Amino acid sequence: MVVSVDDRCLRLTDDSGERGVLLGMRCPHCGVCVFGPATFCQSCTSPDLEEIELSSEGTLYSYTIVRVPPPGWPGPVPYVLGEVELSEGPHVLAEVVDCAHDDLKVGMAVSLALRTVAMDGAEDSERVVYKWRPA
Ligand SMILES: [Zn+2]
Repeated sequence: MVVSVDDRCLRLTDDSGERGVLLGMRCPHCGVCVFGPATFCQSCTSPDLEEIELSSEGTLYSYTIVRVPPPGWPGPVPYVLGEVELSEGPHVLAEVVDCAHDDLKVGMAVSLALRTVAMDGAEDSERVVYKWRPA
């Protein structure tokens, strides 16, 4: 079984976990979008938010190379943590994969990359996480 790491942020669109879309909330009054769940608009405070599917393409806004990972980090170290700007406006933080450190450039085009990681304590289950890779 594959499940989204957080179904308020990432909706899987097939059973294999290879396809999915990022989710956000959009304010119908001022048009501001955010990534993930929200209960009111951060711009105009309206509670009338609607869920939207966000773009799977973005541009690298900023990045850092992480040499001391958070506890429980399952991947290789060092790794690249990227802040990616989507066309709808939200910034999404996630690991940047498949890119040599020397090739990283602010402003480069990136696209969503889904990866599966083993879930703690559940042998047959995998968790799908979202990352970025060069477009
Ligand atoms: Zn608003």
